[in-house]
Amino acid sequence: MTVKSSSPGPALTWHTLGVRQTLEQFQTDRQSGLTSQQVTAQLEQYGTNELIEAGGRSTWEILLDQFTNIMLLLLIAVALISGVLDFFDWRAGKLSPGEIPFKDTIAIIAIVILNGLLGYFQESKAEKDLAALKKLASSRVRVIRNGKTIEVDSKELVPGDVMLLEAGVQVAADGRLIEASNLQIRESALTGEAQAVSKRVETELPAETPLGDRINLVYQGTEVLQGRATAIVTGTGMQTELGRIATMLQSVEAEATPLQKRMALLSKVLVTGALLLVALVVLGGIGYATWQSGKNLLEVALSDVGKEYLEVSLSMAVAIVPEGLPAVITVTLALGTQRMVKRQALIRKLPAVETLGSVTTICSDKTGTLTQNKMVVQLLHTSSTSLSVTGDGYSPTGAFAPVETNAATVDPQEQPELLNLLTACTVCNDAVLQEEKGSWIILGDPTEGALLTLAGKAGFEKDQWASKLPRVAEFPFSSERKRMSAIVEVLDTDPTLTGDGSHYIMFTKGSPELILERCTQIQVGDAAQPIAEEQRRKVLEQNNQMAGRGLRVLGFACKPLTAIPPEGSDEVSERELVWLGLVAMLDAPRPEVRDAVARCRSAGIRPVMITGDHQLTAQAVAEDLGIAKPGDRALTGNQLEHLSLEELANEVEDVSVYARVAPEHKLRIVQVLQRKGHVVAMTGDGVNDAPALKQADIGIAMGITGTDVSKDASDMVLLDDNFATIVAATEEGRVVYTNIRRFIKYILGSNIGELLTIAAAPLLGLGGVPLSPLQILWMNLVTDGLPALALAVEPAEPDVMRRPPHDPGESIFARGLGAYMIRIGIVLAILAIALMSWAYGYTHANPTAEDPSGDRWKTMVFTTLCIAQMGHALAIRSNTRLTIELNPLTNPFLLGAVVVTSLLQLALVYVPFLRSFFNTHYLSGFELGVCLGVSVLMFVWVELEKLVFRWYAKTKK
Ligand code: ADP
Ligand code: MG
Repeated sequence: MTVKSSSPGPALTWHTLGVRQTLEQFQTDRQSGLTSQQVTAQLEQYGTNELIEAGGRSTWEILLDQFTNIMLLLLIAVALISGVLDFFDWRAGKLSPGEIPFKDTIAIIAIVILNGLLGYFQESKAEKDLAALKKLASSRVRVIRNGKTIEVDSKELVPGDVMLLEAGVQVAADGRLIEASNLQIRESALTGEAQAVSKRVETELPAETPLGDRINLVYQGTEVLQGRATAIVTGTGMQTELGRIATMLQSVEAEATPLQKRMALLSKVLVTGALLLVALVVLGGIGYATWQSGKNLLEVALSDVGKEYLEVSLSMAVAIVPEGLPAVITVTLALGTQRMVKRQALIRKLPAVETLGSVTTICSDKTGTLTQNKMVVQLLHTSSTSLSVTGDGYSPTGAFAPVETNAATVDPQEQPELLNLLTACTVCNDAVLQEEKGSWIILGDPTEGALLTLAGKAGFEKDQWASKLPRVAEFPFSSERKRMSAIVEVLDTDPTLTGDGSHYIMFTKGSPELILERCTQIQVGDAAQPIAEEQRRKVLEQNNQMAGRGLRVLGFACKPLTAIPPEGSDEVSERELVWLGLVAMLDAPRPEVRDAVARCRSAGIRPVMITGDHQLTAQAVAEDLGIAKPGDRALTGNQLEHLSLEELANEVEDVSVYARVAPEHKLRIVQVLQRKGHVVAMTGDGVNDAPALKQADIGIAMGITGTDVSKDASDMVLLDDNFATIVAATEEGRVVYTNIRRFIKYILGSNIGELLTIAAAPLLGLGGVPLSPLQILWMNLVTDGLPALALAVEPAEPDVMRRPPHDPGESIFARGLGAYMIRIGIVLAILAIALMSWAYGYTHANPTAEDPSGDRWKTMVFTTLCIAQMGHALAIRSNTRLTIELNPLTNPFLLGAVVVTSLLQLALVYVPFLRSFFNTHYLSGFELGVCLGVSVLMFVWVELEKLVFRWYAKTKK
C-alpha cells in the first residue's frame, strides 16, 4: 500500500496560533465566514475535502484470494492428473486422429482462470459498490458563509470556513477552535485513544505539543461526543492529519455473511468428501478388479482398468463440488443490497442483508421514525392563560387564541407571561429558521424549529435577540438529561426579565416533569412568586392531558443569575428555577407506518416503540399506530432501571412501549430481548445510541437526522428515517434468503444427480465414464449457473410477509431443504441412469459414421442431465404454486437463462468444433427426442411433488 505523500499545508502549527492570528491567516470573519468568491478560490487551490481511500484489499490481493479457494485448488489438481493421464496416452500414441492433446487440462485450467477472473470482477465490484453506497450517506456540515448559517456537503468544505460542531457529528476537516462549550471529542480514529478529550479555545500551545494534547484543535474523522463549538477549517482532504496517515483509514470491509462462511465450510467438507470418495472408488475398484482377475495389484493399477477408475473418480470429484455456488451467492447478496437501497435502506455491512430476513423484533424510535418529525406547536399554558396556536408547518404566521373563552386572538406583546415564555423559546434554542425560495425551513432539531416558528408568530426573531441577549454559556441537551439551558447576558435591561438587576439569565427547557421539579417559583403576570402545590398539580395535569392526546410537551423555566455558572455545574445551577409554562406540539404519525406495523405483525415481527418522550404521549401515538392496544403496559426508563435483568426478561416480551428512556436503557432492552432468543433490529440517532446499535443484530441509523457517530456504528442506514423502510428491508432480506435457499437446492440437487450417475456407470459394468470433468464443469458453471443466477432475482412470493421469520441459527438445509436436495438428486440420477442403461445398448447396436464405436450414450446422458435441470429450474420457482399458476414474465431472466443454456447445450452437440472440444457426438432427432422426453419427466416430478404436498397439507387441516 502506498501512502500518497501530500504536500504539507501552509503550516501544521495551528495550535501555536491564537484565534485572531488564525482568522487573519485565512482572511475569514468569525461572524460572517468566507464569501462565495473566497470559497471558490480556496476550492481551486486546495481541492475538495475528500480522502483518497487507501486500504481495502489491493487488486492483487482480491485476485489472489480467488485462487486460494479450495474448490479451484481441487480443479487444478484434477487438471494436472488428467494431464498426466493424457501424457501417457499421447506417448503410447493412443490419441485418436485430430484430437488435441491435453485438451481437458487446458480447458480446466482455462475455466479455473476464467472463474477466478469472474470472481475477481464480482468481488471488486461488490467492494466498490459498497464503498459507493457508504458515500451516499456522506455527511453534511454546518458552516457560516456570506454571513449565513448553511449546510454544505462535507466535500465542499475549504480551509478558512467557519464550521459549526455539535454532539454527534464527525469532524469533517481539521480546524482551530474559536468557540467551544463543554466540548468533548473522541479522537480514537487518529490517536487510538478511546477516552474523550476536552477541548478549549483560549490556549496557545508550544510547537512541540504532541497531536493528542493539542486541545485547541479539532481533527477530521474524530467524533464530537458532547458540547458545541465553532472552528476555522485549517486543513481539508489529504492535507489533514488523517489524510497524512491515510493507511490507517478504515477501509471498506466486504465482510462475509454467516451464510457465506457456512458455505465456505461446506465446500471444504465437500472437497474433503470428494477426495475420500476418490480414494475409495479407486482403491475399491482396483481391488475388486485384482480379486476378479487374479492378477497382481500393481499390474491392474497400471492397466486400463486402473486408468478407468481414476477417470471415474476425477469426474466424481468435480461433480460433487458446487463450483458455481459461491459466485451466485455473492451476486445475490449484492443484488439484494441494490434492491434495498432502491427502497431507501442502505446496507453498510453485508451480513445485514441476511440477518434482516430473520428479524423478530424491531425497536424503533418514535420521533422522526414513526412520526414525521414535522412539529407544529398547537397549545401553550402559562400560569394564567391557555392559548391555542394556529398556523401550518414552519411558517411563522399564525395567531394565539385563548382556549377557554371564545375571545378573539390575543396580542402576545400585552402578556408578560407569554413574552417570557416566547423569549425562552427563542433564546434557549440551537436551531435556525430560514425562508428559502418562499418556503420556511429549519436547520437543526425540528422540536426547536417549531419553537422558533411559534415565537415568530409573535414577531420574535432569533437574530434580534442575539444582540440583546447574547449567549455566554450553556448546558447542552442530551437524551439522558432531557433538558438544556442557555445562559445569556442582559445587555438591554428589560424589567420583565431581571427585576433585581442580575446581569445574566438562564433559560431552561426540557421534559416538563423534570423542569417543574427544579422550580421553586412561578411567573405570574410580570413577577415571579413562590410556586404553590396547587399550581404544580395544575401544570402536571395540563401536561398529562396534552400528552394523552399524543402531543409532545416541553416545559420552560428561567433563572436570573449574577455570574456565569462554571462549565459542568448543571446539576447545581439548574435549580431554584422560575416556571414559565408549557408548550405542546403535534408530531403527526407518518401515514405509511400504520400499514407497515400491520405488515410486521402478519410477518411475525413485533414492533416496539422506544422514546425519550412522555409515557402518555408515547402510548397515545403507539395506540394510534397499532403498536400497542389501549390498556397495554408501558415501561418508563425509571421503572426499567429498578428492574433486575431477570425481572425485565419476564416483561420484555409483553411491553411494546418504552417511554422517557435514556440511551443506556436501549442497550439493556436489546440485551434482554436477545437473551430471550430474539433477533433485534434497533434504531438510533444520537451519539449515545452507538452501543445499542452495535449490540443489536441489526443496528439502524437515521440517514437524515442521525449523527455521524450513530451511522458509523450501524449495519444499515435509513435514507428516509422511515419505519416503513425497515419493514421493506426485512422483506427484501427474506426474499434474498429464500432465493439463496432456492438455488442452493437447485445446484446441489443437480450435483448429487451427477455424482450418482457417474458412480453407477462402472457398477452397471458399462465401459467408460459417462461424463468427463470438462463436461461436468460445463454443467456446474454454465447450464446450472445461469439459471441459478436467474433464480436469484426471483421476485417476492406473495406470502413472504405472511409467515414467521426463520430461525437465524437454522442450518441452510433446514425446513426440508436437505431432504429435497437428496430426493431430487436421486430422481435426477434414476432418470439419467435409466436413460444410460438403455442408450448404452442402443448406441452400441447402432454405430454411426460419426460415432463408429457407439459412444453416443455418453452425449445422451450429458444432454439429458442438462436439459432435465432446465425443467427443474422452471419448476422450482415456487415451492407451492404450480408453474402454470405463475406468470412466466415475472422472472424473464429465468426464461432467458433456460432458453440460452438449452441452445448452448445443443450447440455442444451440433457445432462440429465444439463437439470435438467437448468430446460429444452428433445425436439424431430420435436420440435427442429421447433425451428431451426423459428430461420433461424431471419437471413433471417436481410439479407432482407440489400437488402431493398440497393435498397432504389439506388433509391434515
Ligand atoms: P425522542 O427522540 O424519543 O422523542 P429525545 O431524547 O429526543 O426523545 O427527547 C426526550 C425528551 O427530551 C423530550 O420528550 C423532551 O421533553 C426533551 N427534549 C427533546 N428535545 C429537546 C430540546 N431540544 N431541548 C430541551 N428538551 C428537549
Ligand atoms: Mg430526539
